[in-house]
Amino acid sequence: MTAYDGEDITYQLALVRSAEATDGVRLSYADPVDTDWMFGALWHRHGMTRAGHPQWKLVNTPRQRRCMIRNLCQVCGKSAMDGDTGRIWWVMAEPPGKNVLGEEFTNTPPTCRACIRLACHLCPRLREWAQAVTVGAAEPYGVVADTFKPVGNRLVSVGTATEMPLDAYHDLEYALAKQLIVSLDDLRPEQIP
Ligand SMILES: [Zn+2]
Repeated sequence: MTAYDGEDITYQLALVRSAEATDGVRLSYADPVDTDWMFGALWHRHGMTRAGHPQWKLVNTPRQRRCMIRNLCQVCGKSAMDGDTGRIWWVMAEPPGKNVLGEEFTNTPPTCRACIRLACHLCPRLREWAQAVTVGAAEPYGVVADTFKPVGNRLVSVGTATEMPLDAYHDLEYALAKQLIVSLDDLRPEQIP
């Protein structure tokens, strides 16, 4: 799910009128298409060619989102669901987030059982601290987004890498989603396989 520098797409954000939006306007593109939207959020346009050089600290938006929606391993791209138990494997470099209801969530995609040991070996963050877990189900919960606000007719950037749940409708109207966050149901700590 690493981003490559040849995958950048030039685009122009715009503030557009929307009858459904809280303030009557919302963030969009100058040339919006239906596929720019998912889960009520506007998504960052990002290529998937793996052209150019890897940018190890940056995440490719459509690859991250696909891993999350389809429970795919972020290392090998195959299913991270355990064939025996039906549970989904994860390895985390920090404990998952938790909301006031006690629901746990993460923006880290799954890692299949077979890849966890390799991931722990290769990733500097996982070498410091790693917890393997399995979950019963993972559902779209929120986004990590860049945020904007309208000043007159202009858009002003107000934040980057801001986490917000998918029911924060007003915030989502001014957000450009870059990663999907999923909730983790029935999370159980596991030994590193
Ligand atoms: Zn894997």
